[in-house]
Amino acid sequence: MMDKPALPSAIVTGAGSGIGRAIALRLAKDSYGVLVNDLSLERAQSVADEIVAAGGTATAYAGDVSKEAEVAAICAAAVVAHGPVALLVNNAGIAHQALFEHLEVADFDRMFAVHVRGNFLMTRAVLPSMLERENGVIINIASQLGQIGGVELVHYSGAKAAIIGMTKALAREVSSRGVRVNAVAPGPINTPLVMGLSEDWRAAKKAQLPLGRFGEPEEVAAAVSFLASTDAGLFVGQTLGPNSGDVML
Ligand code: NAD
Repeated sequence: MMDKPALPSAIVTGAGSGIGRAIALRLAKDSYGVLVNDLSLERAQSVADEIVAAGGTATAYAGDVSKEAEVAAICAAAVVAHGPVALLVNNAGIAHQALFEHLEVADFDRMFAVHVRGNFLMTRAVLPSMLERENGVIINIASQLGQIGGVELVHYSGAKAAIIGMTKALAREVSSRGVRVNAVAPGPINTPLVMGLSEDWRAAKKAQLPLGRFGEPEEVAAAVSFLASTDAGLFVGQTLGPNSGDVML
């Protein structure tokens, strides 16, 4: 009997909840073998089980993207389970609100550690093999708050703006060597992260959206699916905005 052809290998960080979960489910439908990473093994396992139950291929692996040794272990686990990584989705993220004058150094540092350092470490871990194979796609989940800023969210907005800048700069370096790098900057999406923000913030945000509604995680996953596909071959260093019209670029 012939072996089944190997599926392309994808890593989605922070995939135990919300947008990351929807991206992992969508990529499995798109025929990737998905390494479902999260801080919580229980959440990652539950999403991997959901994918496998639906006939897809997935492996759960817990790890903190802001820690170098854990990142190495996450990426090694992906290669062992699904082969050389063809697609990395840097999605892991946290939310925290404070007026700038009340912002603690520890909260600022954690925000940048998870979003910016985590993005750097994960990308650094998978890029050499992508360049060697001249084949890879990296998609960074930013936020529309990195483009327009958010009240009580200077640290979050700053970290997400950094991700957009890193996306553009890396795209300039590696696109001619077979690796496409893009970002997705969602507006408010119905996930536990947004439900953790204050009710006042959510009500004010909803009122300013031309579309009049928050997005669903699956609508962000659709943008990721497109950017990962060969249909998006001309998209380089860009930031797609599934944001209910909050930012029109
Ligand atoms: P969520 O809280 O539902 O899920 C985030 C997941 O990331 C959690 O399961 C959490 O355990 C995991 N995580 C946190 N820190 C981690 C770390 N250090 N290492 C590995 N995993 C970690 O949040 P979400 O709304 O699905 O957000 C996903 C991404 O989308 C984040 O980067 C967030 O900033 C971004 N985003 C969200 C919205 C929104 O409205 N929900 C809008 C724009 C951007």
